[in-house]
Amino acid sequence: MEMHISRDELLRTFSFTAEASEIRDAVAHIASCPRCLDRAADVVAALRQTGDLAPTGRGRPPEDRYQDGRAALIALMEVREQKRMGLYRAKAWWDELKELSPREQAGRVKATAAIQKREVFETIIREANRLCGRDPFAAEHLAKSAHLLVDHLPGLEFSDRVKDGLRLSAMTVIANGRRLAGNWSGAGSAISEAKRYLRKGKVSQTEQAYLLSIQASLLCDLGQLEESISLVSQATELYQAAGDLKGIATMKIQAADALFGADRAGEALMTAEDALALLTHRDVRLELLARIVITESLIVLGRLSEAMSNHEAAEHLFEMGGDVTYFKGEYLEAKILDARGHARESEKRFRSAIDGFTEAEVYKPGLIARFAFFESLFKRSAFGKCARLCEETIELLERPDTAHFQMPQVWKDLLAAVQAEILKEYHLAEMRRYLARHWAVPAAKVPVFALAVGV
Ligand SMILES: [Zn+2]
Repeated sequence: MEMHISRDELLRTFSFTAEASEIRDAVAHIASCPRCLDRAADVVAALRQTGDLAPTGRGRPPEDRYQDGRAALIALMEVREQKRMGLYRAKAWWDELKELSPREQAGRVKATAAIQKREVFETIIREANRLCGRDPFAAEHLAKSAHLLVDHLPGLEFSDRVKDGLRLSAMTVIANGRRLAGNWSGAGSAISEAKRYLRKGKVSQTEQAYLLSIQASLLCDLGQLEESISLVSQATELYQAAGDLKGIATMKIQAADALFGADRAGEALMTAEDALALLTHRDVRLELLARIVITESLIVLGRLSEAMSNHEAAEHLFEMGGDVTYFKGEYLEAKILDARGHARESEKRFRSAIDGFTEAEVYKPGLIARFAFFESLFKRSAFGKCARLCEETIELLERPDTAHFQMPQVWKDLLAAVQAEILKEYHLAEMRRYLARHWAVPAAKVPVFALAVGV
């Protein structure tokens, strides 16, 4: 292998003492060696300070300057340095912006030239995306500030098409933040606005795919699972065209999740396994999500040994995730224990998962776990426990800001049916479907067991 260039050689190369053949060899090496390029950049900076840097290019026409390979390298170093400093500086502005109120953020964006940079925009968007899961309100406001920032980007440097492309990515984050905060209509209008930019702006395939995936998530939340699945497949095609494997895997996991919710466990399983095959060991979060769908599907399909093997393969992932991940693991184990007939142990596991979700105020998986527990109790005719679980759940759902108006009523109907001993197996499937589709928004028709008791 070719040797790296020593500091002394670098000093000679970029000062006036070098010979032509030495320069040619050194330039060829530096251009293809990132390590020597970094070292050369520091040497160039030092030579420039003492006035020993050659060539300076001063007084010569630009086309002449680049005949000396060193000038081209120096120009490349400068571009790299500017780009890197742009990012570091952007992050510093981000540190300040994230602490401000939405109003203050807007004021700062309008008034501070140093913020009106593409790097600052990109930093805000990246961090807002990351923040979405934890604090969707803050993420939405940051993305709004980024959207406002686009208006202040210099028009000479950024065409209207480019600006609209940037506005689209800000609007996508706004939509996702609103969705995660349960603001369904707000999320819908942000998506419509983003689609307007899609028509006018310079938008990459991956950005377009990401917008479709957020729209698909919104439809999934609203119980329109089939529409969501079809949007996800459109997004998958875009990621495929862009050669984005991680994007494809993410879409397959999203599709698998929706398929599972739509009672299509077999397809969910295949789709999640496809996704798993595309992941590398670095995609920890995606692997966890894929494996959760795989385990759940295998349980539903009655393939319990495979479910257990898959769950065990994900053990280290559950340990790395936070509390909510841990409760999800408990829930899956409760279902496995239940399916194998270990009633007492499954009850403990269900209880612990449900309490965990409730305390963490994680609504949807908590509700799904409650009903899975109900089904487990019902199957072994523990009707008294079923009724107590209903009562406790109703009490929770009647607290302000926990559920839509229909949800406590449906559980009340379930309670009435179980107390009247008229609840049947097929009612359970009905309720399961209802919860998968209507945990966020009321249904046009409530599950049929309510009619059976005449309430
Ligand atoms: Zn080297």
